Amino acid sequence: MYTITPELVLKFHKPAPRYTSYPTAPEWGPMDEQVYRKELEKLAKTENPLSLYFHIPFCKTMCLYCGCSVVLNRKPENETLYVDYLTKEIDLVTKILGRKVVPQLHFGGGTPTKLSIPLFQRLFTHIQERFSLDFSKEIAIEIDPRTVLENGGEKLRFLHQIGFNRVSFGVQDTDPKVQEAVKRRQSLEMTQETYWLARELGFSGVNLDLIYGLPYQTPETFSKTISDILEMRPDRIALFSYAKVPWLKPHQKAIKDKTLPSTEEKFRIYTEARSRLVDAGYVVIGMDHFALEEDVMAVAYREKTLQRNFQGYTVRHAEDMVSFGASSIGFVQNGYFQNLKALPDYYGALEKGELPICKGRILTEEDRLRKWVIHTLMCTFSLDKKSFEKKVGVPFDSYFADAEEKLAELEAEGLILQTPEKIEVTQPGELLIRNVVMTFDAYLKQESKPKFSQSI
Ligand code: SF4
Repeated sequence: MYTITPELVLKFHKPAPRYTSYPTAPEWGPMDEQVYRKELEKLAKTENPLSLYFHIPFCKTMCLYCGCSVVLNRKPENETLYVDYLTKEIDLVTKILGRKVVPQLHFGGGTPTKLSIPLFQRLFTHIQERFSLDFSKEIAIEIDPRTVLENGGEKLRFLHQIGFNRVSFGVQDTDPKVQEAVKRRQSLEMTQETYWLARELGFSGVNLDLIYGLPYQTPETFSKTISDILEMRPDRIALFSYAKVPWLKPHQKAIKDKTLPSTEEKFRIYTEARSRLVDAGYVVIGMDHFALEEDVMAVAYREKTLQRNFQGYTVRHAEDMVSFGASSIGFVQNGYFQNLKALPDYYGALEKGELPICKGRILTEEDRLRKWVIHTLMCTFSLDKKSFEKKVGVPFDSYFADAEEKLAELEAEGLILQTPEKIEVTQPGELLIRNVVMTFDAYLKQESKPKFSQSI
């Protein structure tokens, strides 16, 4: 029986990718829209289930911990203009794809619920005209409690009425002092009102996001946040580590280091919260996802059918994800594709009738193999070496002979168990899964400057 000790976590406390993609984003390069066009043409010829992502970048104010692609905006006309271009992008893509069946759709941001109801309605009608949405599956949106409660929760009611069935929203911490320090003021009453309205309307798989490692958090203050959340008992909870990347997100510099909990304290905040959630009946999935036993995500975890995409863990398999909106990232056939980030550039490309792609990566044979190994370990926490051999025609141990030493080290630390047939990730290994799968990342050999946040 292995246990998670502070020493173990501190030993592995180092920058680690989240592996929502492989190769990871720093390994991508400039991408020509013609390459994207070709992959879309290939996709058009398949019957593959398709996932869609729509990025709405606007926020009214900046939360200081934020790591998303955000445009601060208070002028509704800017949002109307954005939707105009978003519909142009949808038209360009569906001209190639045709009207595909979509079992999984996700709106993220920014703040998708910042759009007015008529504007959202216009966009959603357009999406429905161009795609055949399967409303019995996953139609999900990230909501912001600060934007959905006006007029008796009119916007949340509207979203449910047009077919959204799953919502996720940020809480981060219910302590007013922490909220003040990160400039995100969202009262507990507002969070509760949003949650209970979502429940009353019949949304399922309701997810609440929390962040540990924020300024002024202590194990004691965060324990109160956990109690507040457990009173609501959402289907899912995501408990993320504050991803401190000031070299990428300069606004994070406004959070002073001296206000942050120490690494040891941060670890205590996490482990104590984790124990409380487990005691309350939540199943732990990897290090940051928790789901009630009967929730489909917990079922998928038990049945080893969990998948991973840019939003983290997901329950339905749709490897192809076509994404829309400035800065959005998709995976189509054999490559990752990212849209232009700055709105004038994004609008400019669409104005010329071009797909607004700027970055990406076409996978090599080797990339595909390693992606499979990394994602299999991250989603099922085990790896059948025979399946690998069947896929590749080379025994797993020979193919990854250079990883032998690292795997032995992980085994000695109690993070994995190895037999000639399989690799099993232990419970502490699940917590440190990012560190475990780094073993198979061919691009992490020579790191000079930081690219990723700490794994814990
Ligand atoms: S609302 Fe969300 S996306 Fe917008 S700044 Fe805050 S954390 Fe970032």
